[in-house]
Amino acid sequence: MNFTIENALIPVEDDYTTVDVQVNLGIITAIAPQLEVVGTAINGENKLLLPGFFNAHTHSSEMWQRGIMSMLPLELWLAELYDFAPLDLEKVYLSALGTAVETLLSGGTSVVDHLVLIPGKELETIATAVRAYQEVGIRAFVAPLIQDESITAGIPSGETQQNHEPYFRSTQATLEIIEAAVQQFHRPESGVNILVAPTGIQLCSDALFDGCRQLSEKYNLCRHSHLLETKAQEKLAQEKYGCTAVAHLKRIGFLDYRTSLAHCVHLTDNDISILNQTQSTVVHNPLSNLRLGSGIAPILKYRQAGVNVTFGCDGASSNDSQDLLEAIKIGSILHNVTDLDYQYWITPRQAVGMAALGGAKGLNTADKLGSLSVGKKADLVLYDLTNLSLLPRTDPIGLLVLGRPSNVVNSAWVNGKQIVADGKVTTIDVEKLQQELFNHSQWDTQRQSQTVAQIEAHYRLVMGL
Ligand SMILES: [Zn+2]
Repeated sequence: MNFTIENALIPVEDDYTTVDVQVNLGIITAIAPQLEVVGTAINGENKLLLPGFFNAHTHSSEMWQRGIMSMLPLELWLAELYDFAPLDLEKVYLSALGTAVETLLSGGTSVVDHLVLIPGKELETIATAVRAYQEVGIRAFVAPLIQDESITAGIPSGETQQNHEPYFRSTQATLEIIEAAVQQFHRPESGVNILVAPTGIQLCSDALFDGCRQLSEKYNLCRHSHLLETKAQEKLAQEKYGCTAVAHLKRIGFLDYRTSLAHCVHLTDNDISILNQTQSTVVHNPLSNLRLGSGIAPILKYRQAGVNVTFGCDGASSNDSQDLLEAIKIGSILHNVTDLDYQYWITPRQAVGMAALGGAKGLNTADKLGSLSVGKKADLVLYDLTNLSLLPRTDPIGLLVLGRPSNVVNSAWVNGKQIVADGKVTTIDVEKLQQELFNHSQWDTQRQSQTVAQIEAHYRLVMGL
C-alpha cells in the first residue's frame, strides 16, 4: 500500500512540473521533486498524473442493450428499455464489471451507478453490483434506482384524462429495502457508498422523496436523482405541482450539498439560483442528451451562477459506451455553439477540475478526493504521454481532453491500491469478462417493444407531434 511515483508530470497554475508523489496507507503524504522512495517505486517518467475522475451518473445494466435501442426520445426509449431489461443477477454482475473497467480505462476511479433493481430481487441486485465493484476495486457509489409510480405516469396528461396502474411495490416497502441496503453495504471507508436515489419527479411521489430525505439525514447519505431531462418532464412538473420541478424539490427539502442531479436540461433562471443556494450539483451527461434528443443543458450558465457541475456517461443504452474522456470532451466543447461569449467556454483544465473535484463535491467527499493534495486519498491516474494519441508533445491536458485518447491510462490507484498497471486492469480477468459478455448475448436486430406501441400515440398527442 506504500509507494512513490517518481518523476511524474503534474499540472500547476498555468504550467506543469515534475514531481515525486509518496503514498502511505492510501493517503498522499508528500508531493515534491526528488523525494526519498518509500515502498514500491513507480516510474512516472513521461506520464501525466491526475486525480481520478468521477463517472457521476450511469446505469450499469444498460450495457446489455447498448447499440440496439431505437432512436426515440426518453419517455418512449425508457418503455423499450424496460421491456427488455435483463432480469438475472449474473448479467447485473457482468455489466457492473464492464462499467467499472471502461470507466477506469477512461480516467475514472469513482462510479455512481444509478442501479436498476430486479423486481423481487432488489437487495440481491444491490449485493451483486457491490460485489462486482469491490472485485474490481473502483470506488463505488451505488444509487439503487427507485420509483413508486408506473411508467405511464411519467408522460404529461395534456388535455386527456389518464389513469395509471398502481406501482407494484409500496412506497414504504421500497424505503425499507433502501434502509436494509444502507445497513448491509454502506461502508464509505472501504470504498462502497449507498445513495438514496429516487429516479425523478416524473415517477416518484413526495412521500418517496421525503422518505429518501429522512434516510439521507439519518445515515448521512448522498442524494441522487434525474432532473428535468426532457421537455415532457418540464410540462409534467407544471401539471403535477403547478411550479417547476426545482422549486418543488426545494419546497420538500430534497436539495442540499449532498444532492447531485443528472441532466438538468430544462431549468429556468430561478431554478438555477435555487441550485446555487442549496449547493446542489449538476451532473452533465452530454452524450445521452444528444442521443435521446433531450437538449443541451445550459452548463455555462450553471458555471457562471456558481453551481457545481461534473460529468457522467449515463447508462450505456443512451450513450452507447462508458468512455468518460469522451463525455468530458463533448461536455466541454458542446457549449461553444450555444454561447457566443468564448470567455466562458470550458477550457481543458477547467474540464479536468469539473471531472475530478466537481465529482468529489457532488458526492460530499471534496475533503478526501478530487485533487492532488497532501492528506487526500490516493485515487490517482497516470496517463502515458508516449501513446500515439497523446503525441506529439504539446499541452498534455489539452490533448487528453480535446483529442481522442485511446489506451492512455497506464496506471490507476483507488485508496492507494493499484488496480490498473501497464494499461491493464489487474484485479479481474478482463479477457474472461469479454468472453462472458459474448456468451450471454447474441447478435440482435429485430425486436418490438409492446409498451412503446401502447403509449406512443398519447406521447405524440401531448407533445404536439
Ligand atoms: Zn440516467
